[in-house]
Amino acid sequence: MVSILGTDKRPLRVAIIGSGPSGFYAAEALFSAESRVCVDMYDRLPAPFGLVRYGVAPDHEKIKKVIKVYERTAENQDFAFLGNVKVGEDLTIEELRAHYDAIIFACGAQTDRRLGITGEDLPGSYTATEFVAWYNGHPEYLDRTFDLSNEVAVVIGQGNVAVDVARVLCKTVDELKHTDIAAHALDALAESRVCEIHMIGRRGPAQAAFTPQEIKEFGELADCDPVVNPADLQLSPASQTEIDSSSQARKNLDALTEFAQRPQPTKCKRFFVRFFQSPKELRGKGKLQTLVLERNRLVGEPGKQKARGTGETWAMGCGALFRSVGYRGVELPGIPFDPDRGIFPNVDGRIARDGEALGGLYAVGWIKRGPSGVIGTNKPDSIATVKNLLSDLSVIQPCANPNSDAVRDLLANKNVMVVGYDEWKKIDAAEVERGKAEGKPREKFVTIDEMIDVVR
Ligand code: NAP
Repeated sequence: MVSILGTDKRPLRVAIIGSGPSGFYAAEALFSAESRVCVDMYDRLPAPFGLVRYGVAPDHEKIKKVIKVYERTAENQDFAFLGNVKVGEDLTIEELRAHYDAIIFACGAQTDRRLGITGEDLPGSYTATEFVAWYNGHPEYLDRTFDLSNEVAVVIGQGNVAVDVARVLCKTVDELKHTDIAAHALDALAESRVCEIHMIGRRGPAQAAFTPQEIKEFGELADCDPVVNPADLQLSPASQTEIDSSSQARKNLDALTEFAQRPQPTKCKRFFVRFFQSPKELRGKGKLQTLVLERNRLVGEPGKQKARGTGETWAMGCGALFRSVGYRGVELPGIPFDPDRGIFPNVDGRIARDGEALGGLYAVGWIKRGPSGVIGTNKPDSIATVKNLLSDLSVIQPCANPNSDAVRDLLANKNVMVVGYDEWKKIDAAEVERGKAEGKPREKFVTIDEMIDVVR
């Protein structure tokens, strides 16, 4: 059957939910198709770019340059941004379905996995998500406070998010003040008394999830020395096999070995990379004071080694703990959800229930495959989903009311103030202007009201 969708007379209408990397790569792939496609991209915030704006560390400015690529996509005549719209609250899936032929969910993994240990929710125990969103000026995390009055802070997990969190704690104000870090975070970090930062992994150096470039940065900090116990770098035959088969693991080990060989630390702060330990319990009277750790050993085949507790435990004083053990997606009413993996279950990007594709609903990025990979990983992932969407054209049910103005009217009737792309550009320009006085690339607006004021 030949579809009417995708012609100039009746373009395929796609709503993309989420304006981070995977959403923009999906839009780019749709615009490269032979079919005519109109894309309306939604975001709960007035500002686009998702994790690039609110997840990438402020001192990793180069990574944020990828926004230029997304801006080119946004300039397409068939692209519209509808910011400040919460899908699931302001707009239901049924309402979206009535106005779009297909919906692509690019809403990422917005919350953290839990450790599942006693004391996890004590004050002083924080998630990486909230700390990262807070220092990046995410409006929904503005009210968070982090107790940095104790000298010891711990980061649990050894992925690149843990590395970001640790690095921000390790850096001096001078190292951060010319980045786009939120002003409230810089002020709080200026008062920080943290001088011992421990990044603790449950497995060994051969299994660490961070990447070489990221770990090497700790060797070049202004006032922080990296510390690694050489005994932790002794490899079992199984771990040696893993190192031999992974250039990333080899480079990580090289960087850690260089740290371990350094002379006694002399700088004010120390960054400890520690292995083979799992948090067992967090203790404290009314707030976190003590972290109980258990020593692990590794069991299993090379490439599949798991941490197993040895029963040997000990306690360390600790005033702030950041859990950075992976992100997970959040459920959306009307869409199937896999609670174990924290994703929308899908078959090659087609959202599915019990393995059966639902039709017209797609997923890209972390909500499709889980929280893995760097920003660029999302490009082929989004292209793959879009390819499947376009191959479904003949079976996609055209929507009842193919009209974006009707959606805008619907939102206006619900008193939702939609922020369009041109309006975002005004907010963007105002942020850049605000940053100039401080020598920052931008000073972000950290409340939605401030952003809306600029637009008005
Ligand atoms: P991740 O890379 O999956 O790392 C998660 C870490 O948590 C691993 O060290 C894991 O250890 C540990 N972990 C999981 N469950 C645990 C538990 N119960 N107890 C103790 N440790 C536990 O996740 P992420 O750091 O959140 O990063 C997500 C993705 O974003 C990654 O692909 C990352 O590379 C990417 N990212 C990239 C950059 C960058 O390029 N600069 C920056 C930030 C994030 P096991 O290995 O033992 O499971």
